[in-house]
Amino acid sequence: MAHSHTGTGPNGTRADRHPADLVEAGNLLRTQPDLAPAPSATARAPVETERYAVIVIGAGQAGLSVSYHLARKGVGHIVLESAARIGDVWRNRWDSLRLFTPAKFDGLDGYRFPGDADTFPTKDQMADYLEAYARKFDLPVRLNARAERLYRVDGRFRVETEGGTIDADQVVVAAASYQKPRVPAFAGTVDEDIKQMHSHEYRNPGQIPDGPVLLVGGGNSGAEIAMDLVGTHTVTLSGREVGHIPFDISGFLGRKILVRLVVRGLFHRILTVKTPMGRKFRKKMHGHGMPLIRTRPGQLEAAGVRRVGRIAGFKDGKFVTAEGTEISCATVIWCTGYHPGFDWIDLPVLDESGLPRQQYGKSTAMDGLYFAGLHFQYAVSSTMVGGVGRDARRVADWISADRQR
Ligand SMILES: Cc1cc2nc3c(=O)[nH]c(=O)nc-3n(C[C@H](O)[C@H](O)[C@H](O)COP(=O)(O)OP(=O)(O)OC[C@H]3O[C@@H](n4cnc5c(N)ncnc54)[C@H](O)[C@@H]3O)c2cc1C
Repeated sequence: MAHSHTGTGPNGTRADRHPADLVEAGNLLRTQPDLAPAPSATARAPVETERYAVIVIGAGQAGLSVSYHLARKGVGHIVLESAARIGDVWRNRWDSLRLFTPAKFDGLDGYRFPGDADTFPTKDQMADYLEAYARKFDLPVRLNARAERLYRVDGRFRVETEGGTIDADQVVVAAASYQKPRVPAFAGTVDEDIKQMHSHEYRNPGQIPDGPVLLVGGGNSGAEIAMDLVGTHTVTLSGREVGHIPFDISGFLGRKILVRLVVRGLFHRILTVKTPMGRKFRKKMHGHGMPLIRTRPGQLEAAGVRRVGRIAGFKDGKFVTAEGTEISCATVIWCTGYHPGFDWIDLPVLDESGLPRQQYGKSTAMDGLYFAGLHFQYAVSSTMVGGVGRDARRVADWISADRQR
């Protein structure tokens, strides 16, 4: 499949098409009707820098939402996605995962999630929905295109990818703030005969050797994986109590009424950077993650999951909690979250914890740089499917206004 580029240049002119891209295996979802005939490989021009008005980095829900709003405003852009397929972030999560938000809150702007509004989609349905979304709105996504470095050159942004460099006036980083798995430093001291994995590598119980399993980290991933494993393994879940939603989200009242109060009311409208309650919650959440949404502590206990406090280290073949409890296991799964993973951003725009200095998604350190899908970017819902659209629209509005100026 051939592909071309449709972005407008910085002065509103059509971006130069790169002949090499016309003959290379096409990773751009969209095929342009006015595509020039592909030159033969031998006639290929040397690789030059392409130019777009805007580059969006990441084609998850955040990047696709930004792309949708930019397209509606007629702003030329390209979306760079490192994966081979849209939705792979979801496909690669554990097999039994269902969203904790019902389908009625899982649609992005302009396209509702198909099917029964009160059911909880599987992770693969979510992945397929994102792919269908990009196709429906003909969003200009280029796959297998990891942004390896973002920097400034001659007053513009430049993104380096394996396939070449791309310049733009404005850049939106929509790569979420969870790209690099985080494990505690003492993971390096754990005996070799104990199997270690991070939660992002976990798929199903069949993958885990016989013997007790220790899950380190008591957030949503830890709790859900514990429930997934407890039927086949002896499971210990370590970590402090992170709080929980005090009702069953999948019960009749939960699905029909209460989940709306939490997802649309609390997470989207009340817990925002604009409310004192939201700011307090944000501070509390920093580095600690969300309260348990689907799994309640009582369910864990009833299922036979043993709870212990935070693991402080590993000694003499055993994990040891801060209180001194010793735990032996055959497998440890680190449900300890992620680093932001923005080390490829070669610009002075990050704070000491590696997170962007930004307000509502606009960099406060550099004009023309925006973010989408960050943890609590505007509200708790900023990282959620049903909440990211509001932030994406705001970013697209700013970009469009900048371009008009
Ligand atoms: C286990 C789990 C369950 C969740 N369940 C729900 C739920 O039920 N409901 C809900 O609303 N939310 C849920 N979330 C939260 C959120 O919806 C997801 O984390 C979602 O994947 C975030 O979307 P995103 O677009 O911000 O980031 P991502 O999905 O991580 O997308 C970022 C994209 O950027 C790409 N990328 C990264 N770096 C680069 C680079 N350098 N160059 C190019 N591309 C790059 C990645 O490949 C990826 O496709 C869940 C999260 C987790 C972890």
